[in-house]
Amino acid sequence: MLYKSFVDSFSDYIIDRNEDKCILCRICERQCSYEAHGFDKKNSVMTKQDHKCICCRRCEAMCPTGAISIRENPSQFKRNSNWTASHRKNIYKQAETGGILLVGMGNPTGKQPTYFDRMLLDASQVTNPSIDPLREPMELRTYLGRKPDRLEFEEKDGRVSLKTKLTPQLKLEYPIMFSAMSYGAINYNVHVGMARASQKMGIYYNTGEGGLHKSLYPYGANTIVQVASGRFGVNAEYLNVAGGIEIKIGQGAKPGIGGHLPGEKVNEEVSRTRMIPAGTDALSPAPHHDIYSIEDLRQLIYALKEATDYKNPVSVKIAAVHNSAAIASGIVRAGADILTLDGYRGGTGAAPLVTRNNVGIPIELALASVDQRLRDEGIRNHVSIVVGGGIRSSADVVKAIALGADAVYIGTATLVSVGCTLCRMCFTGKCPWGIATNDQSLSKRINPDIAEEKLSNLIRGWGLEIKEIIGGMGLNALESMRGSRHRLRGVGLSESELDILGIAPAGK
Ligand code: SF4
Ligand code: SF4
Ligand code: SF4
Repeated sequence: MLYKSFVDSFSDYIIDRNEDKCILCRICERQCSYEAHGFDKKNSVMTKQDHKCICCRRCEAMCPTGAISIRENPSQFKRNSNWTASHRKNIYKQAETGGILLVGMGNPTGKQPTYFDRMLLDASQVTNPSIDPLREPMELRTYLGRKPDRLEFEEKDGRVSLKTKLTPQLKLEYPIMFSAMSYGAINYNVHVGMARASQKMGIYYNTGEGGLHKSLYPYGANTIVQVASGRFGVNAEYLNVAGGIEIKIGQGAKPGIGGHLPGEKVNEEVSRTRMIPAGTDALSPAPHHDIYSIEDLRQLIYALKEATDYKNPVSVKIAAVHNSAAIASGIVRAGADILTLDGYRGGTGAAPLVTRNNVGIPIELALASVDQRLRDEGIRNHVSIVVGGGIRSSADVVKAIALGADAVYIGTATLVSVGCTLCRMCFTGKCPWGIATNDQSLSKRINPDIAEEKLSNLIRGWGLEIKEIIGGMGLNALESMRGSRHRLRGVGLSESELDILGIAPAGK
């Protein structure tokens, strides 16, 4: 660059250091992967460069004397409702780089409604009394996979047994799974934490499109392996060691485009697992080059079932887009056992900003329309629906299930539970919390034992809350909640939004 970066002239954040508290230990300098802190040896003082700060708050958390605080820069561009500060800064950046603006994590703008926040749950009063989860058994167990239309039994020697052959199912002790996040996009230590927590809690984690590290094969029974357009790490062993398989067609944060893992993140281990050369960009194409129709998709679904001797359920994951319901219907008819819908607010390791912020639809609307369409067509039980992309709490889980989901995927919540502060810089490979990075000096900030414990605690805590919520509605099994839209009410929603969600307004 022939000139000083114009964007860097405008710091988003200000690093405040209380000189009275600072003991010059230089921990902040070592902890900041963006080199925003420095040390002036000559004058023996700490220095700072505000424009480099991305507000990860790592230095603040690690400073032994509490000397640091990070704040937003109050200095503003002249107000203009049409040309916001971010519009202007994005143009400055592109005028300097001439490239696509990459971002990490989900859309933070909040410009579109979060429908979960505009729906409220019901509770029992007087009639249909509530159930106390502390005193009575509650059932959260969920089975994912195709269910038969009817059950047939046979009697032999006075004993009745099930005659209907059941298709393979994923058994979950909680209706929550760790989302597809590839090894490479996040590091090995986080994968170990997710794998162990899944085994401990009786749930599943999803490898994403980066393959499965051989050392994690012992956790295969709690692993869903992904087959994405790049086919990274896909082989017969990978498919068979897993409990389930997912064909990734789309992702909520970036519908319609492929994946991109920058070469800097492809170290020796990542390259071995992905089966690509180290240091090369891992680019998965936007489409699967063997899928151009529902019939093509059917071929892949059955090829995967064949490859695993029909032992593993096959899921198909799509991004929530305008015609998700029709696409979902085709996917079910193509033989998928599980349909995964990933919503507009979903996170990502790296996506073009323009796609993340402008493409796709909120998961609540997509879920409600898909569930309704499959019910109308009489094929809802032929598939389980799993949703992700915006699940932030146990309340969101219950609302999603009331709208028609069988279970949910959590991605951002998974990372937050191991320390992510949503700085949204995952695409740089310099994650200060050691999560979205393969740099050894950073990734060791994640201790797999602690990650396992935190992830297990999150699932356990949400499970307890879910029991409280459904118990308060007089239910003792989460399965009874599925698709119970009459237990939801909308607040501040238009007629058409209520219609799509299939819920009544509050007060009615
Ligand atoms: S970590 Fe805190 S005490 Fe240590 S040099 Fe930085 S500001 Fe000073
Ligand atoms: S980038 Fe993070 S570690 Fe560095 S100064 Fe900012 S808040 Fe502190
Ligand atoms: S994973 Fe790391 S880089 Fe990504 S948002 Fe979280 S803290 Fe930031």
